[in-house]
Amino acid sequence: MMMLTKKMIEIRSILQTVGQSDALTLPSIVVIGSQSSGKSSVLEAIVGHEFLPKGTNMVTRRPIELTLVNTPDKNIEYGEFPGLGLGKIMDFSQIQKTLTDLNLAVPAADCVSDDPIRLHIHSPNVPDLSLIDLPGYIQVVGQDQPVELKQKIADLCDKYIQPPNIILAISAADVDLANSTALRASRRVDPRGERTIGVVTKMDLVDPERGAGILLDRKYPLRLGYVGVVSRAPHTTGIFSRVSGNLMDAITKNEQAYFSAHPEEFGPGSSTSVGTTTLRKKLMQVLEQTMAASLQGTSDAIHQELEEATYEFKVQYNDRPLTAESYLAENLDAFKHSFKEFAEHFGRPQVRELLKQELDQRVLDLLAQRYWNKPIDDLSPPPPEPNSIRDLPTADPESLFWHRKLDASTSSLTKLGIGRLATTIVANALQSHIDRLIAESTFSSHPFARQAITDAAAGILNERFYSTSDQVENCIKPYKFEIEVEDLEWSRGKENIAKVLKEELKACETAVRQVEERVGGKRKLQDVVGFVERVRKGEVVVEGDGRGGAGGFSSALLQKGREALFLRDRADIIKMRLLAVKSKQCSTKKNKYHCPEIFLDVVADKLTSTAVLFLNVELVSEFYYNFPRELDVRLGRHLSDTEIERFAREDPKVRRHLDVIRRKEMLELVLEKMEGLRGLDGQAGGSGSGS
Ligand code: GDP
Repeated sequence: MMMLTKKMIEIRSILQTVGQSDALTLPSIVVIGSQSSGKSSVLEAIVGHEFLPKGTNMVTRRPIELTLVNTPDKNIEYGEFPGLGLGKIMDFSQIQKTLTDLNLAVPAADCVSDDPIRLHIHSPNVPDLSLIDLPGYIQVVGQDQPVELKQKIADLCDKYIQPPNIILAISAADVDLANSTALRASRRVDPRGERTIGVVTKMDLVDPERGAGILLDRKYPLRLGYVGVVSRAPHTTGIFSRVSGNLMDAITKNEQAYFSAHPEEFGPGSSTSVGTTTLRKKLMQVLEQTMAASLQGTSDAIHQELEEATYEFKVQYNDRPLTAESYLAENLDAFKHSFKEFAEHFGRPQVRELLKQELDQRVLDLLAQRYWNKPIDDLSPPPPEPNSIRDLPTADPESLFWHRKLDASTSSLTKLGIGRLATTIVANALQSHIDRLIAESTFSSHPFARQAITDAAAGILNERFYSTSDQVENCIKPYKFEIEVEDLEWSRGKENIAKVLKEELKACETAVRQVEERVGGKRKLQDVVGFVERVRKGEVVVEGDGRGGAGGFSSALLQKGREALFLRDRADIIKMRLLAVKSKQCSTKKNKYHCPEIFLDVVADKLTSTAVLFLNVELVSEFYYNFPRELDVRLGRHLSDTEIERFAREDPKVRRHLDVIRRKEMLELVLEKMEGLRGLDGQAGGSGSGS
C-alpha cells in the first residue's frame, strides 16, 4: 500500500490552505511533452477518463495541478476544483468544459499563466498521485498566436521541472527521440537522468523492432527507465468514444493486444518496459520513494516555518489568542460599553438643552422679524436711554397693535411644528453621537459593521419618529390656545433671555471683527461703512447699479460694508433690548407687551419642557433599550461564520494576526501527521523496487 503518498498528498492540501512557502513544496510528477506527443492521452489513460481540454486551437495556458485520490471503498468517481467552490463534479465532460473555460480566461496577450489550476479527482480506479500537466511545447508558432508563446511555454516548464519534482517526459515513437523537446529539456536539468521517466507514446505507429530499439536507446540513459505505451483508445471516432467510463479497460485491452502480439520485443523475456498499467505502477513507486526521500527535508522545513510562525505570534501578538468570533464579540462588547457610557450622560437635561437652544434661536428670529427689523417710529417717542436706537419703538401697553403683535409671535412659536422639529433634533443628535462612537471604536475600520450599526440606529429612530413627533405635537397643543405665566417663570425667562441676547451680541461682534479682518483692518472697514451710510442717507448718489464699485470701493468691498453695517445695527438693537430686558419695567409679567423677549422665552421654555418629557419616554428611552439588542441581532446572531470571518479580516492587523494563528495551528497539525509517517517511511524504502 502506498500510504505515504496518500498522507503526503493530504498534508500538501493542508499546506496549500495556509499558503505554503516554496520551502514546503512536496514533490510532484511534472508532465512535459511537445504538442501532439500524446501527453493528454497518457494522462487520460492513467485517470481512465477524457477530461482534458481538446481542440485544434487549444493550447493549454495554465498548469493543471492534478491530485488523484484513491478511494477504494467508494463506488463513485468525481472531480473537484478546490478554491472554485463548484462542489463535486461527477460528469467528466463538465470537468473538461471547466478546464477549457479556465484556460480561455487567460488573456491571449499573456500567452500563459503560471497560476496553476487545482483539480482533484477521487476514484477507486486511480492511484494516489500528484501530477502537474504543463502546456505542451510548441515547435512552430501558429499564425494567430503571439510569437513569444513558444518561449513562454518553455520558461513555464523550466520552472516546474526543478528538483524535487519527477519529470515525466513524453515523446512519440514516430518522432526521432533525439528531437524530443521533452527529453532535451529534462536532460538540461537532470543530466544524469536520475529523476526523469521517459514515456514513449504511439508505439503502434512504428514497427515493433524499431519501437523496442527506442525503448532500449542508451543515448540518454534514465535510472527510472523508458516505458512504451499505446494510449489511444480504439475507435476514437463514433459515438462510443465519448463513453469514457471504461476508457481505462479499453486502452489496456488495446495495448495488451498490441504488445502481446510482439512477445519477442515486448514480452516478459524482453528487457523493454511497456503498458499504461506498468507506467501507473512505476509512477506510484517513484513518487512514494521521492516522497519518502523528501520526508526529512519537508519535516525540517515545516519545523522551521512553525518556529517562524511561533516567533511572529509571540513577538508581534504577545501570544494573544484570537478568533474571528472572539474579535467580534470583544468589539461588540466594547462598543456597547461606550454606548452605555454615552447614554448615562445624554439624558433629559442634555435633550432639554439641545431643544431650548434651538428654540432660543427661533425666538431671536421671530423677534428680529416681528419687532427689531421693522422699526415703526410713529407709534411712540424714542426712549430716553442714551444707548438706544432712535427708530425702535417702545410699546404702549394699551395699544391693540402690540397685543396682536405678541399674540402673532407666540402663535408662530407654538405652531412651529414643535413635534417634528424636536423629534428631528433629538433623533439627529442620537444618530450623530452613534456615528461618533463608531468613529472612536475599532468598528471604524470595518465598513460592514459600520453600516450595520448605523442601520440599527436609523431603524429604531425611524420606526419611532412619527409616533413620537405626533405625541409631542399633541401634548403642546394647549399652549396654542392659552399661555399662563407664573412669576417665577417670568423671572427665569428674564434671566435666560438676557443670557441669550448677550451671546447673540457676542456673536455679532465676532462677526464684525471677521469682516474687519477680511477687508484688511478696522480703518478700512470704517471708511467703507461710512460711505455706505452716506449713500443710504442720500448724501451720496451712486451712478448706475454700483456693480462695478463706487466711491473708490470695489463692489465686493461695498458688500462687506453693508454686511458690517447690518451687524452693527443688529448689535445696537440687541444692546438696547438688553437694557430694556434688564430694566425695572420688564421685571413683572404685567408688562409683557414691553418685553416680548421675556414672554417668548417663557413660551419656548414651556414648549421645551413638555416636548422633552415625551421625547424622553417615546424616543430616547426606547432607543437606549432597543439599540444594544438590535446590535446583538445585526452583529451577533444573524451573522454566519463566513460573515464573521470576513468581518474580522476587514482589519488588516487582525487579518495578519488570524493568519499567523491559523498558520501555526495548521503547521502543528501537519507536523503531527508527519510524525505519524515516520513508520511508513521505512516501508516505502523497502517496497521501492518491488510490487
Ligand atoms: P497532446 O497534444 O500531447 O496532448 O497529444 P494528444 O494526447 O492529444 O494526442 C495527439 C494525437 O495523437 C491524437 O490524435 C491522439 O489520438 C493521437 N495519439 C495519442 N496517443 C496515441 C497512440 O498511442 N497511438 C496512436 N496511434 N495515436 C495516438
